[in-house]
Amino acid sequence: MSAVIQECLSCAARLFPNRLFCPECGGDSFSDVAVAKATVETTTTLSNGVVIATVSPDGGPRLIARLTGSGVSPGQTVPLTNSSDATPGVHAYIPPTIDANEEHR
Ligand SMILES: [Zn+2]
Repeated sequence: MSAVIQECLSCAARLFPNRLFCPECGGDSFSDVAVAKATVETTTTLSNGVVIATVSPDGGPRLIARLTGSGVSPGQTVPLTNSSDATPGVHAYIPPTIDANEEHR
């Protein structure tokens, strides 16, 4: 499992969601990078029982993800996924982003 985020080809800044221009250097060329896991920083349980977490993959950026499974605590490393129906167990789901340039085609 992994989640795909955007990486600037000019300065290697990692971005989520996808951008048209890099906020760090203004570059407009990107590659997709698969990120397999992230460290949980904080968790919040919503009134409907859904657990939301701020997670930090190596190399950034911080992501807001929906956690599945139970017993996850800050400091724990969890797998990331773009698939909302991933296999059971603990993982952090972030929705896949469309290519920002595809919105207006
Ligand atoms: Zn950049």
